[in-house]
Amino acid sequence: MINIKTSHELIKMRKAGLITGGALVTAGKNIEEGMSTYELDRIIHDYIVSHGAKPSFLHYNGFPASACISVNETVIHGIPSKQEKLKKGDIVSVDVGAFIDGYHGDSAKTFAVGEAPEKAKALMESTEGSLLEVIKTLQPGMRIGDISAFVQQYNESRGYSVVRQYVGHGVGRNLHEDPEVPNFGRAGHGPRLVAGMVIAIEPMINEGAAEVRVLPDGWTVKTVDGKLSAHFEHTVAITPSGAEILTMPE
Ligand code: MG
Ligand code: MG
Repeated sequence: MINIKTSHELIKMRKAGLITGGALVTAGKNIEEGMSTYELDRIIHDYIVSHGAKPSFLHYNGFPASACISVNETVIHGIPSKQEKLKKGDIVSVDVGAFIDGYHGDSAKTFAVGEAPEKAKALMESTEGSLLEVIKTLQPGMRIGDISAFVQQYNESRGYSVVRQYVGHGVGRNLHEDPEVPNFGRAGHGPRLVAGMVIAIEPMINEGAAEVRVLPDGWTVKTVDGKLSAHFEHTVAITPSGAEILTMPE
């Protein structure tokens, strides 16, 4: 069932979204060569808690940290670790959620540690570009499949592949709600967008093949071919005339 949010609920979701977006800005300002992904997680955790919210991911289905931090060929759900140190030229996907006043925000961004190689920059630009460009097209009456087809075409036309096993989703009182928002699919299919629908759109795009595998830790998702992956995500509310990004920091 797709929950349509009232204007009162959207006020609360904006608050959750701003803290979520702010946590990512803070992550970006603090990322540096030599730091561990554990240290980065602590910075994100402290930001969320100091703003009166709870980290949505901490203990979610048993996840042990406040942010998913996924380096290079790790696609999503990387577990922060004291042993994993960031190196110059790495790309780091940081996925964050904040829960406050009963509602979640959910957003992700891939950062470069120092200067990333050109091929990594191009992958990140395509992934983020597909997210920001598809958001500009959103209108009530469109279908979820229109989003899916747009993101797929945008990235595949640039030579990249779309991860199939993980998808975007509705957001609200629960971190993951209906509908599913795949990053691949056919235009004209799926549920229609209506004003008050809140969805997380989150392209996960691979430099090489689409195939991914989950490590024995049960969380970490990596590309099978060991090539790079990027991940960008915003929580977006459908409005009567378009869409509002709730996780865009001020
Ligand atoms: Mg997320
Ligand atoms: Mg999400």
